[in-house]
Amino acid sequence: MAGTALRRRLGHRRLTARLVETRDETATARTLRFAVPGWPGHLAGQHADVRLTAEDGYTAQRSYSLSAPADGEFVELTVQLVPDGEVSPYLVRDIEVGDEVELLGPLGGWFVWRPEQPGPVLLIGGGSGIAPLRAMLRARSAASPPFRLLYSVRTPSDVYFAGELDSPDVTLLYTREAPDGVERTPHRIDAADLTAYGLPAAEEPTCYVCGPTSFVETVTGLLIDAAHDPARVRAERFGG
Ligand SMILES: Cc1cc2nc3c(=O)[nH]c(=O)nc-3n(C[C@H](O)[C@H](O)[C@H](O)COP(=O)(O)OP(=O)(O)OC[C@H]3O[C@@H](n4cnc5c(N)ncnc54)[C@H](O)[C@@H]3O)c2cc1C
Repeated sequence: MAGTALRRRLGHRRLTARLVETRDETATARTLRFAVPGWPGHLAGQHADVRLTAEDGYTAQRSYSLSAPADGEFVELTVQLVPDGEVSPYLVRDIEVGDEVELLGPLGGWFVWRPEQPGPVLLIGGGSGIAPLRAMLRARSAASPPFRLLYSVRTPSDVYFAGELDSPDVTLLYTREAPDGVERTPHRIDAADLTAYGLPAAEEPTCYVCGPTSFVETVTGLLIDAAHDPARVRAERFGG
């Protein structure tokens, strides 16, 4: 009873989500679109917990960012396959349109972008860490402050949302193999990349960094070294 009251106060719910559509992003990642009756809406950057229950009652629960902005009673998750993982192989390979999962959300109140928030926005994602940043990019409007996205990926075939990222505000930073015509030699993101493609600390952007833990640690360190105020650096770690 107390738990239900607290959950209502926090604004998140445990709901049944029915898969209505899937879209392959890469050979090992896909976007899942669910219909979720009763979904209360969410802010760009929030996540949800997916709970799977086997016939014998065994359950497994994992967090996934909401990869699209609020859209009535629909949500999208974008999942990278973790080889030998428990939950991601089911979501990337096995779940079929019409199947149901339990969804707890929306969750998280810090790693969010609010449309009324002042100031420019610097998004830096590594691999599947693009998921909540894509929701932020799509949540902005013509009236929004400037956005800049730096997206670190291994090779061209690892890029999610490829059709949406062709914009002067977006820079793809390849770490292993770049397409023909890209001058930057493939390497992991460094201080020179932040200077060349990011936003200067003097413009006081709110920075959102998301991806595997080691990526997030590296990039937040680079931002602080480049004089970004730690109070304006927000990070989400996916594990790994
Ligand atoms: C707030 C939050 C949001 C997240 N959003 C997303 C998202 O949008 N998309 C997405 O694909 N994932 C996301 N994740 C990661 C996700 O929750 C799972 O950790 C991931 O899908 C692996 O789960 P699994 O059950 O397949 O693997 P597990 O069975 O949990 O782990 C198997 C092995 O893989 C390692 N491992 C666990 N997680 C990762 C990882 N992320 N990368 C590499 N190795 C890993 C483990 O250490 C273990 O050795 C998010 C995590 C958090 C905390």
